[in-house]
Amino acid sequence: MTDIDHTKAQRKNIHITFPSGISGKPVICQLAREVDITFNILKAQITPGKEGFLTLQLEGTRENCELSLDFLRERGLAVSPAAQRISRNEETCMHCGACTAVCPTGALHNDPQTRCVPFDVERCTACGLCTRVCPVMAMQVELENGFL
Ligand code: SF4
Ligand code: SF4
Repeated sequence: MTDIDHTKAQRKNIHITFPSGISGKPVICQLAREVDITFNILKAQITPGKEGFLTLQLEGTRENCELSLDFLRERGLAVSPAAQRISRNEETCMHCGACTAVCPTGALHNDPQTRCVPFDVERCTACGLCTRVCPVMAMQVELENGFL
């Protein structure tokens, strides 16, 4: 069995969902103060008083990445591994609209004029929810790494 080096620096992309009561609180600032970790905000959609979404790239030791996840979860945030990239197979998509019901950012939405489901990559936070509901697996996800 291979030993895991918990002191080796690594990068990890995570997707965070803030419940409405927490989205106005400075949880990420507290994280930076209390855990030796640096982060880049890849995408953010935070409105005080409403559910919010944030995609972060954490950089630090494996141990501190895990401490960060515990820190966020203990404060009531939902944390999941973020996809590095989400793409859609345009040949497979049949524009059924099932994904629009779960997409939290409107990156997938119904266009009443064309009756199609455009995919706006710029609004996608790579949460991966659409990949779980697409009946033909048109939404494709590539994880940066497999652990959480
Ligand atoms: S659920 Fe899949 S097939 Fe349906 S619109 Fe979304 S991506 Fe296309
Ligand atoms: S991964 Fe899918 S559900 Fe999540 S924001 Fe992107 S398009 Fe929407």
